[in-house]
Amino acid sequence: MIEIKGFLETSFLDWPGKLCSVLFLPHCNFRCPYCHNHALVFHPEGYSTIPLEDILDRLRSLKNWIDGVCLTGGEPTLHADLPFLIRKIKRHGFLIKLDTNGSNPQMLEKLIKTREIDSISMDVKAPLDPFRYSRSTGLPVNLNPILESIKILKEAEVEYEFRMTVVPGLHREEDIKNLGEQLRVGRRFILQNFNPENPMDPSFKSIVPYDPKVLKEIEKEVQEMI
Ligand code: SF4
Repeated sequence: MIEIKGFLETSFLDWPGKLCSVLFLPHCNFRCPYCHNHALVFHPEGYSTIPLEDILDRLRSLKNWIDGVCLTGGEPTLHADLPFLIRKIKRHGFLIKLDTNGSNPQMLEKLIKTREIDSISMDVKAPLDPFRYSRSTGLPVNLNPILESIKILKEAEVEYEFRMTVVPGLHREEDIKNLGEQLRVGRRFILQNFNPENPMDPSFKSIVPYDPKVLKEIEKEVQEMI
């Protein structure tokens, strides 16, 4: 069974428009230099595993407050028993949102087909070319599964959004617009500002994030594109 390494009882930030609980799952197959969850990626054994039954007890007591549960990581789709975890939570009447880096289209398709998932946020790391993508993920990435996941989401009857963490030095304004073009016909494309606190690559600490106002303007522009 998946080891759950973190539990946030309530969050307004992880599911736009909803109040949700958040479960943090360990491990990731990417090494994004700006990742601030890198302890969960490299050293999940440093966190105690929270028993699922304890989480379900707590979720039941929050039933009248929260709209659903967000599964994040790390990369949740690395875990073959993710559908089992989702079914266990859904049985108690909660909606489920999944955060993913899009590297496991088979798992996405399975969850969508069986209607086990209610919302998906896919992080899109850079314009869709292997060089730019691999720079942002910190290792060589095969783009095919990413492209496949994008296609699956666009064709699916499920709520979804694409998200991009924008990092000066990795992403120029034209890269964001390029990606907006490439994602055309998607539903929502959200830009998140890079947070220089505790990145995986310590040299990223000195990078100054984009001015939030500028980023909002770019987001408005790319949102109109798609
Ligand atoms: S940012 Fe996300 S995809 Fe990248 S290493 Fe961290 S958890 Fe993995």
